[in-house]
Amino acid sequence: MRNQSKGRLILFDSQGIELDSLRCTVCDDALETSQHLWVDCVVARNVWDMVCKWWRHDDYPKDLQSLISWAGSNSFPSKMARYFDVVVQTTFSSIWHYRNKLCFDIKPPRKDTIGDDIKLLSHLWISHRSRNFQSCWLDWTIDPVNVCSKL
Ligand SMILES: [Zn+2]
Repeated sequence: MRNQSKGRLILFDSQGIELDSLRCTVCDDALETSQHLWVDCVVARNVWDMVCKWWRHDDYPKDLQSLISWAGSNSFPSKMARYFDVVVQTTFSSIWHYRNKLCFDIKPPRKDTIGDDIKLLSHLWISHRSRNFQSCWLDWTIDPVNVCSKL
């Protein structure tokens, strides 16, 4: 939504919150849509590439809805698919946190720690929510597919 006030263009989001810009907070190269922020943005692409390499995938879905349900659409056994889904959802959350830190923190966040955050948070989440999951942190960070195949 747009509004003119004293010759100044004021932008509002769908919730009525005043915005400085509609451009992506992370790259400033495109409008900040959900598709852009979580899939097309350069930081998101780098993070999803890391997840692919970490989980032995060649590629990831390039549209948001398919990416959200990615864990259910591959050939993993059901338990491994559940753990992979935690990784996928943690990746969305980590991208969102990175974006918010760029918006609100005084000190800019580090891009190079997003992957480590995803590995740490997904390991914490799974190890605290699943009785059957027993993996040391290092094994999880190196080869989660191997860890899951032994469960
Ligand atoms: Zn961007």
